[in-house]
Amino acid sequence: MKYFLFIDHPKGGLDTVSEEKEERIRSYFSGIDTIETNLTLKGKEYKAVIDYAMFANLTNFDCFNCVEHCCGDAPAIFDKKIRNFILENKESYNELTKTLDILEQLGNDEDEIEDMITEEDVLVPSKYLGTEVDLCACAYTPKNGQTLCSLHSICLDKKMSPREIIENKPLICSIWPLEIILDEKTNTLYLTLPDDFTNNFTIENFYTKSCINIDFAMSPIFRRENPGGFLEDDFKPFIVTYGETLKNVLGENIYNMIKNKLLEEEILENDDFVIETEQINKVLT
Ligand code: SF4
Ligand code: SF4
Repeated sequence: MKYFLFIDHPKGGLDTVSEEKEERIRSYFSGIDTIETNLTLKGKEYKAVIDYAMFANLTNFDCFNCVEHCCGDAPAIFDKKIRNFILENKESYNELTKTLDILEQLGNDEDEIEDMITEEDVLVPSKYLGTEVDLCACAYTPKNGQTLCSLHSICLDKKMSPREIIENKPLICSIWPLEIILDEKTNTLYLTLPDDFTNNFTIENFYTKSCINIDFAMSPIFRRENPGGFLEDDFKPFIVTYGETLKNVLGENIYNMIKNKLLEEEILENDDFVIETEQINKVLT
């Protein structure tokens, strides 16, 4: 098995699922109700086993009030579409990130910088990473505070649709923290979320993620570091905060299958699906 979203990680090997965790994954999925269907991701069709109840988990992606370095690393080798998007929007990209200014100050001319954007796995040569260029080369920190994504901000600025936003970012950046585990032998994807019940096999640690763990977000230790935001009332089901993202990544059909199950089983009600602004459309004010 592999952690599907980490297969393209530039560091390599982060997608490995240990035998022990593989056993836990099989045991967990054999004991819960799931939706079984087909799902196309990254241009390939898979069988999918969906832990639909997890999509009702409360979430609050209050990235504008979060001090976690969520974009500490580029989590995937950038694809051609993203590289072209950066080249087409060089000015705004540089205004936000200063990455191109830094590369120039390091003695690289315009052509060399363009070659880096086109060819380097994570847009800048590894010798600069963690030293001259910290965080993902697309991350920026407005008001010297929270870490945001320049690609996402440029898309919003250009009034692009959720589909276009998703296409211009690495898939993992749009769909995280959804856990997707690939069983290569059966060509099956298992979908769930980090949670009390799954934390012994998910790649992320549920207990330290305020956006998916309301108890942690309400804890004194977290509130002291993040005095603003992450309000209890702003926590909404994952299928609601990530509605447009899920429709565009998993497809409307699968989104509706999950939604209908949650309604049929009275895990959620229609009123729960009302939200002021979904995560993907939020802008810093
Ligand atoms: S940890 Fe969650 S809330 Fe914080 S920046 Fe990352 S996605 Fe946003
Ligand atoms: S969300 Fe944007 S800034 Fe963050 S890791 Fe992904 S591409 Fe980089």
